[in-house]
Amino acid sequence: MAATATLSPPSVTPPTYHRIVSPTLALPTDPLQPIPVGLLACQRDPLLRELTTTAVSCRVSQSPSVPSNGREGKKKKAAPAPTAALLEIILHDTIIFPEGGGQPSDIGTLTSSDGELWDVVEAKRHGGHAVHYVRLRQEQNVDDALRLFSPGAVVGVSLGEQGFKRRLDHMCMHTSQHLLSAVLETKLNVETLAWSLTAYPAPCYVELARGLSPEEIAAVQEEANRLVFEGRSVHVEVEELDPSVKVMSGPSVGIPSDYTGGVKRTIVIDGVDRNPCCGTHLPSIHNLQLFLLPNMEALARATTSSVRLYFLSGPRLLTHLTSAHTLLTSAASIMSCGAPQVPERVQQVVDERKKVTKRVEDLEAELAATIASELLASVPQEAGGLVMQRHRTDDSATALTFLSAIATAFVSKVAEKEVTAPYLVVLSSSPSAQSVTSTTVVLLFGSDDKKVKEVGDELKAKMNVKGGGKGPRWSGKFTGVWKDAREGVALAGILESVKL
Ligand SMILES: [Zn+2]
Repeated sequence: MAATATLSPPSVTPPTYHRIVSPTLALPTDPLQPIPVGLLACQRDPLLRELTTTAVSCRVSQSPSVPSNGREGKKKKAAPAPTAALLEIILHDTIIFPEGGGQPSDIGTLTSSDGELWDVVEAKRHGGHAVHYVRLRQEQNVDDALRLFSPGAVVGVSLGEQGFKRRLDHMCMHTSQHLLSAVLETKLNVETLAWSLTAYPAPCYVELARGLSPEEIAAVQEEANRLVFEGRSVHVEVEELDPSVKVMSGPSVGIPSDYTGGVKRTIVIDGVDRNPCCGTHLPSIHNLQLFLLPNMEALARATTSSVRLYFLSGPRLLTHLTSAHTLLTSAASIMSCGAPQVPERVQQVVDERKKVTKRVEDLEAELAATIASELLASVPQEAGGLVMQRHRTDDSATALTFLSAIATAFVSKVAEKEVTAPYLVVLSSSPSAQSVTSTTVVLLFGSDDKKVKEVGDELKAKMNVKGGGKGPRWSGKFTGVWKDAREGVALAGILESVKL
């Protein structure tokens, strides 16, 4: 007999997943009444992608955009087109999860009885009810919507491919957070203060009261993945909400204070964790390989300090691996080495670069002194005032700094050789490739501050050099092509009239 293997498809939630543990709690069946958040289809069967239900209410939203609930300040939403009305629809039941427990809202579509599709851009919990925000398409109108979503009308709800992808990612990250927090608590006695299900594909994080050593991080990751490989099952226990139960104490821990749905859900990871939560959770942790980013981020607040431990799992982990691998491969290719050699090669390049920079600086200092000596020797000292000009070609991004080094060397040589004659020097520097956008820098210095200012003003007026100076130095620049026959001659003309 041929060997056969039966693999249970991952798209089916086991019937044991959702357990109403109170004998007095039952699922509301009146199709004109909404099932409260806590007992929604998305919470009873997190893998369900489609559902047929009935409309309970539909109205035009008073606000043009989905209200923020005060927690989504960072979320930027595009301004809606003035014609696109927003509807608020409550259904008897839904598979579109309204944000809660730190888990963002699902997106999806509603199908009305005439087959028309309506885009649910967000769902939110108002008290105990899930409200679907439907943005009308260009061709859709409010009157049709109000008729098609009148109380009792049959409505199809679907997550669609995008909606399910988004939900699967949220579930992987959310269930992983429960697992991670439980392991941190049992293994290290470290409590989770808060957590954030960040937007895909960034890593999510838990906030902890203290930092963890690399060994602790590795041990937590190993323990979490041991449970993952065991494939521990996850189920939900639902009962009536005990009014004495602790309401929400942090951003996403406990039961929100405005919740009026009347049920308490406890997410149970078999033998690992029991935690009150309204989120949608996978029926098993079997494919939630957890990766903890080894570097933690410290946060200092007014009264407390905490750290963020970042983690990845599920589709987000694969995306991260793909992008990290792509970056590493491309770096390895640039460095012409294998991936493992990249850090060493990059270090080499950085070290070499430092040495080269140092050598360039040393050579520049030597060259500046040589140019200064040449300049000083180029004009006979008996000539009285020394007026000099020198143009350079230099592709350095700091050409002016080099001209400045020449000036400094020149001044010290003048002092060294006890030159008494007054002097005025104009240095200029252009890049080798000349175009209308190339920049030529000009440095002017001399023994007489007044003359320096006079020549600076001439450069501004006659050569359109933009610049200024103070005391014995003046610097500026102009944009355009430098030609010795044009700019060089113009400069010489200005200098000819200078009388020192
Ligand atoms: Zn949770």
